[in-house]
Amino acid sequence: MSDCMPCDLENAADERVVYRDDTWACEVPEGYEVPGWFVLRLRRHAEGWHEPTAEELAGFGPVAKRIVAALQQATGAVGTYFMSFGENYKHFHFLLTARPADLAPEHRGGAIVGTRAENLDVDAALAVAAEARRLLAA
Ligand SMILES: [Zn+2]
Repeated sequence: MSDCMPCDLENAADERVVYRDDTWACEVPEGYEVPGWFVLRLRRHAEGWHEPTAEELAGFGPVAKRIVAALQQATGAVGTYFMSFGENYKHFHFLLTARPADLAPEHRGGAIVGTRAENLDVDAALAVAAEARRLLAA
């Protein structure tokens, strides 16, 4: 384990991996097992928006589009939140969360992050990851 969670996801168990290519990866991190919550990240450690190369960033849009589509199809959510704070980890990464239709008004937007502990469900989160992985491989 390093002090960079997105880097440590290189060692994630197969069941936590939603998507990987040579540049990008998407997984369910330990402690974030909420159904429909994924972390999309650059596989190498690069910080903020200034360190990824133009080539890497050019590939980001198409990958993000496919993962959001798979996440929504796998969950039936009405939307996907796509969040980047760069606060705890400067590594270029995003927290993607399904936006359920019945999400309480006080939990909408960035406030959804605060619902993590009460919605942890490892089995259900890994089942969503498996379905998204299947959709992305199809
Ligand atoms: Zn890193």
